[in-house]
Amino acid sequence: MTKYIFVTGGVTSSLGKGIISASLAKLLQARGYRVTIQKFDPYINIDPGTLNPYEHGECYVTEDGAETDLDLGHYERFLNTPTSRANNITTGRIYQNVINRERQGDFLGKTVQVVPHITDEIKRNIRILGESGDYDIVITELGGTVGDIESLPYIEAVRQFRWEIGSGNSLVIHLTLIPFLAAAGELKTKPTQHSVKMLLEYGIQPDILVCRTEHHLTMDIRKKIALFCNVNVNAVIESIDASTIYDVPLLMLKEQLDRTVLTKLKLSHKNEPDLESWKDFLGRLKNPTSEVRIGLVGKYVELPDAYKSISESFIHAGAKNECKVKVEYIPSETLTPGNAVERLKGLHGVLVAPGFGERGFEGKIEAIRYVRENNIPFFGICLGMQCAVVEFARHVLGMTEASSTEMNPATPFPVISMMEEQKKIIAKGGTMRLGAYACDVKKSSKVANYYGKSHISERHRHRYEFNNDYLKQYEHAGLVPTGFNPENNLVEIVELKNHPFFIGTQFHPELKSTVANPHPLFINFVAASLAFARKK
Ligand code: GLN
Repeated sequence: MTKYIFVTGGVTSSLGKGIISASLAKLLQARGYRVTIQKFDPYINIDPGTLNPYEHGECYVTEDGAETDLDLGHYERFLNTPTSRANNITTGRIYQNVINRERQGDFLGKTVQVVPHITDEIKRNIRILGESGDYDIVITELGGTVGDIESLPYIEAVRQFRWEIGSGNSLVIHLTLIPFLAAAGELKTKPTQHSVKMLLEYGIQPDILVCRTEHHLTMDIRKKIALFCNVNVNAVIESIDASTIYDVPLLMLKEQLDRTVLTKLKLSHKNEPDLESWKDFLGRLKNPTSEVRIGLVGKYVELPDAYKSISESFIHAGAKNECKVKVEYIPSETLTPGNAVERLKGLHGVLVAPGFGERGFEGKIEAIRYVRENNIPFFGICLGMQCAVVEFARHVLGMTEASSTEMNPATPFPVISMMEEQKKIIAKGGTMRLGAYACDVKKSSKVANYYGKSHISERHRHRYEFNNDYLKQYEHAGLVPTGFNPENNLVEIVELKNHPFFIGTQFHPELKSTVANPHPLFINFVAASLAFARKK
């Protein structure tokens, strides 16, 4: 039978529930268990696809095309297993499902209420992953903080669910903060006591407390927390600030979080966790032999979470190259023909980021012109690739007014244009080209060489595409389309000839880079940047 772990948060948000969940999952997986992680987000948007990245960070896309919370990216990067639509549920989706059923008459004239109908729908979504038969353990992370009005139905659903599946089959981990008061020179446990009290009011006694702290917890503090929060002393887990999120599984191992969890769930401890390759990765991450500076040119750079998967991919690829990748965030709207050279000189590579809308578009074009003309390694992702196509049209093919129809619908040279299937769509949510699509890569291309194969599959999130009317012109002039969707011939990759590394992808390779499998395009982009740095 599948066992269930629920992770709640207390005291404040941003304690890192996603990283704790992913780290625990990693330890259980490393002992031989099949684990998945699910996140419930208590907001009313159906998914984060329509949210501004400033609101909620990056929108992560799964293989099956769900637009999801960025925590799912952490789950995949830690576990190296794909997630799906079932791994991220919002209050909006829960209500939408219930309301759709109400309209179909499924409730047979009953009054539809938060309890039991919304809580039942939450429980159904908890069960979906467990009943798939694919997992021994399902970890469900409840977004928000205990005490928020919007979290209440979830906590009530968890209370009911635990009662239904019987004791020993589930546990609750409460993540909390132990603040340090510098003036008193003390760690304070009171906020934790209060947040546990609040959980108790809702009928949930947490089994394990994971305590975020800037200072080590003494035995006295652990005993005090245990006594006042009604848990065993060994269930008080210290989670001290770490220099990298990838240290957290090892910190949790030291605190024996995995052992405590397995004992409480009445599961065998199996073997000690096999973390050899994880430690090997950490070793290379922490002992780089070289360093490169890569510019990330984007529109949302004030909030680095907006490019989470890209910055994590650089960490994976950097470790692979034993190279520290210093990412410099450059706001694209500040780049002009007059200052691009000054702003970008000294960089060893430039990545132009995905994005939407006109703001910063021209700055991205300027950045690309500079790296193309100066043989600086360039990697363009989604909008970044589209910008490379526009830049080439304007400055090499002589189409000075070329653009994407997203930025200029009246351009005489629509080298990037809206996909046919997109033209009739009006609704915004979940209507882009989303999720995994196959791509055939020309055998003679650099990209095929980097992947070591010519049939690949990558994830997408866009409405616009390379306009194939211009294909021959690009090919002749040297910005060669080298990757195509085998079903409809959409261009997925362009590569510039006679340049050390100039690659644009319509898909998002950053969504598939993991600790165990750093992405080949990022590995080779970092390697090319390193080669450039050494030549200088
Ligand atoms: N705005 C572009 C499109 O919709 C690119 C999207 C992206 O970068 N994810 O096609």
